[in-house]
Order: sequence, then C-alpha cells, then structure tokens
Amino acid sequence: MFEKIYSPVQKITFAPFNNLFVKRDDLIDSYISGNKWRKLKYILAKAGAENKTHLVTFGGAYSNHLVATAAAASRSGLKSTAFVRGEEVKNEMLLLCRLFGMKLIFVDRESYRDKHKLFKQHFTDDKQACFIDEGGASPEATIGCTEIIGELIEPYDHIFCAAGTGTTAAGLLKGIQQHQLNTKLHIIPVLKGGSFIEDEIVQYTPLTNHLHLHLDYHFGGYAKTTPELINFIKTFTAQTGLLLDPVYTAKMFYAIVDLQKLGTIGKDEKVLAVHTGGLMGLFGMKDKF
Ligand SMILES: *Cc1c(COP(=O)(O)O)cnc(C)c1O
Repeated sequence: MFEKIYSPVQKITFAPFNNLFVKRDDLIDSYISGNKWRKLKYILAKAGAENKTHLVTFGGAYSNHLVATAAAASRSGLKSTAFVRGEEVKNEMLLLCRLFGMKLIFVDRESYRDKHKLFKQHFTDDKQACFIDEGGASPEATIGCTEIIGELIEPYDHIFCAAGTGTTAAGLLKGIQQHQLNTKLHIIPVLKGGSFIEDEIVQYTPLTNHLHLHLDYHFGGYAKTTPELINFIKTFTAQTGLLLDPVYTAKMFYAIVDLQKLGTIGKDEKVLAVHTGGLMGLFGMKDKF
C-alpha cells in the first residue's frame, strides 16, 4: 500500500508568478490524502513490526487524519478506533470513517485533552492496540515527510507548506538539511498563535536555519475563514484548475501571493508549494461559498 505513489511536480500559471510549482501530494490517494499518507507510512510500519493490529487515534469531527487512518487500516487488514472531540455528530468525513470500519467514540472536550488517559481507560487490556497521536504527530511521521524533499528533481528558492501540528514542516526541514539544499522553507501555521510550531519542529530537528514561520495567515484561527479567503479560493481554482481547502492549502497559497506582493519572494524565483491534500475539508465549509 505504501510502495508506489503518484505525486508529480506541476507548474501552474497564476499571475504574476513565472516559476510557481506544486508538489501534488493531493493526488497520492483520495482518502489517505496528501501529508496524511506520508505521516502514516512509517507509523504503520512500526505498528506492523510491533504486531499491533488495532490503530487507535484522535481527531475533530472534520479530521483528515481520521479518514486517512480509517482507510489505511481497512486496506491493511487492521482494526481502527477514533476518539472524536465533541458531541456526537454525523457528517461526510465521519461517514467515510464508519464505512472504512472505524469505531468512533465521541468524548467531551475536557476528557479529549488527556489522550493517553483515554487510551489507557479503554485499551489497557488490548495488547494489539497502537496509540497514534492526533494528526499522526510522531518522529515516524516526520521521516515520511522528509521523503517529499528526496523526490524533488530540481532545486527551488522557496518551499511552502501549511502547518497544523508542525510534523510535516519538521520533515521538510530535515529533508532540506539532509540534502544540503539552499532552499528557504516557509511554514504557514493555520492556527492563531502559531509560534508553538517552532517548538514542535525543534523537537524533531534542532537546526532552524532555512525555516521561516509566517504567523499572520490564520484568518482568525483553525478552520476559520473570511470572505476574502473564500474569494481567493474561487479565483485561484477558476484560474489554475487546482482545488484548495479553506483549512490548510488556501491559507498557504494566499500567503505565497501576499509574500510576493510584499517582496519576500521574487516573481521569477522558483517557488514550490506542497499541496498537502485534505480537499474534503471543503465539505465542512460548503455554506461559506
Ligand atoms: C493535517 C494537514 C496539514 C497539517 O499537517 P501537520 O503535519 O499537522 O502540520 C496540512 N494540510 C492538510 C491538507 C492536512 O490535512
């Protein structure tokens, strides 16, 4: 399942950029989408090596990670359970999780905070149960994301990626350092107060030269949008044919355009945006369009 992937680098035409490229990780898989595929690759390898056959993880009701884990589990012949934050709801994402055979346990926000406690309470006796943190955050996940850099054939002046936990960012940074590239890594936290992302990153890779965090593109916070961001998605998608989700990739592309206007990146410099997938996030926001 994790052997061969299709994630080409494509040039896109979006004025005024002359050298804007996209790493199409969104094409890797419909359900194990984008960076979630990268992150699960070595998590599942480790689970397999430890003879764990039951994946237990955590997420919100619109979590791409939950759908990805459910799909990966069913294809690998594994069981899966998720603790879902908040009161019981039904939506498109959780429907997919259920169809892939994932058991959902809804927990209030207070209990959700202590994930290890929840895991212990429910699965102390299940020796096959494997704890996977929210969003798949782990050292194994960074290794999978490092491979994005190894797949690049040409050098870039700038690489952009959206961040939630910062695990994908850490992997990209490690990759840039390992390959000794002269590339700036621009990370766009999608949450308010995203400076904690740097602390997350240094847990995995202590050197932060190459790293540029941009804290002002959260549009009000996680899963928050503004009419300006929604309009940006409409224009961008109509002109490029590339779909964006309002939670992650739209904020990243908005930042690329804005940083070009501000002069941080030149319009002739080579820019690579990592499309981390997650397009089903659109379904949670359909009323905004
Ligand atoms: C989960 C997700 C991210 C965030 O990845 P982190 O490793 O948690 O920073 C970015 N983009 C998309 C589309 C995602 O689903």
